[in-house]
Amino acid sequence: MAKKGLNTCSFCGKTDRQVKMMISGVNGYICDSCARQAYQIVCDNLDEEEALPKAGGEFETNLKEVPKPRQIKEYLDQYIIGQDDAKRYLAVAVYNHYKRLAQPKEADGVEIEKSNVIMVGPTGTGKTLIARSIAKLLKVPFTIVDATVFTEAGYVGEDVESILSRLLQVADYDVEAAQRGIVFIDEIDKVARKSDNPSITRDVSGEGVQQAMLKLLEGSMVNVPPKGGRKHPDQDYIHVDTRNILFICGGAFDGIERKIAQRMNTHVVGFDKVTTVSQLDRDNLMKYILPQDLKSFGLIPEIIGRLPVLTYLNPLDRQALRNILTEPKNSLVKQQVKLFEMDGITLNFDNDALEYMVDKAVEYKLGARGLRSIMEAVMMDAQFESTSWKKKSFTVTKEYAEQQLNKVNLPAAV
Ligand code: ADP
Repeated sequence: MAKKGLNTCSFCGKTDRQVKMMISGVNGYICDSCARQAYQIVCDNLDEEEALPKAGGEFETNLKEVPKPRQIKEYLDQYIIGQDDAKRYLAVAVYNHYKRLAQPKEADGVEIEKSNVIMVGPTGTGKTLIARSIAKLLKVPFTIVDATVFTEAGYVGEDVESILSRLLQVADYDVEAAQRGIVFIDEIDKVARKSDNPSITRDVSGEGVQQAMLKLLEGSMVNVPPKGGRKHPDQDYIHVDTRNILFICGGAFDGIERKIAQRMNTHVVGFDKVTTVSQLDRDNLMKYILPQDLKSFGLIPEIIGRLPVLTYLNPLDRQALRNILTEPKNSLVKQQVKLFEMDGITLNFDNDALEYMVDKAVEYKLGARGLRSIMEAVMMDAQFESTSWKKKSFTVTKEYAEQQLNKVNLPAAV
């Protein structure tokens, strides 16, 4: 930059008192406004790529840097109790996804297909937690969307493209980053079509939404309204390529066990598989789930085809709930201990107190989500008063937990 009052722009002749900024060259100067115009002329006359090589160039995946399935599973083990099958399926799907990204451009005829995932299991058993933990491990943009808010384009509700708007938002509008992100679509079961017969009348919230989702899942260029909201003809769109976005869908699929049971009965009867039937784990039919059960439930075959990795989550039993309290890396107990430690107080929980909290979660059918509310309720008073305590340690006993819980009304069983 040059000194004020001495130089003139070699393009428009203004002095540097008349412009905001003057840039000096070897034999002359250019002002900020001419520089801007020059840039525009370059952009108009050259391809975008020639005009502005992108910083860093295209994303390259180095398979050596991507965690291996076993490492992914070990990482998930730190945060999620049980659900071994789901964790293994997810670990492999994610690793394959990255293999796909790393495959050389010059095709040898073998193209690795997308490995979108669908997880089936009761609510509050860790579906979102698994997806969120994977995104954290891979350090990619991650967003959770609820399938129930979508309707077919043109109806009241959100268009499915808004999924990508959200991903762009969390990626700070870095399209490259968003194109490698992970989207968790929750409650996919709620867009199941209502009956197994395709109907000629429109099913605005069900099949229509599934149809609209197809193009996102399979991998295509999608026009996304920049700030979300509805599409508008005069709007500039951001073009997002969904080829490399990993979609993980989750749903409770309430009642799907009946479909599984029906299928298994009709399939095995009459063959020499009677023994297999008697060996069935009748309490947890979910583990026998197959894609055709999703179809019987009301997902359209095209959607099922685009969610090739199907896995299930187990209901959490008492022992699992007990483990969730203390074992995960950021378990509820560890979080409380840390909160008190920050005020210089050593916090302990009697085993009885923890067992009592688990009993309450089971009794009220609140599952893992309820454990958190129970813990908050038990610790509320102590958190409020601890900063004025003289004592430097505090133990939560069963009696204390009971007394605190009796003060509040826990949400009714769901
Ligand atoms: P879902 O998506 O299956 O409905 P979430 O993953 O949102 O359930 O689970 C709700 C909360 O319950 C989580 O944030 C976590 O604190 C706890 N939780 C659920 N399942 C597990 C699990 N298997 N291991 C550890 N915590 C769990």
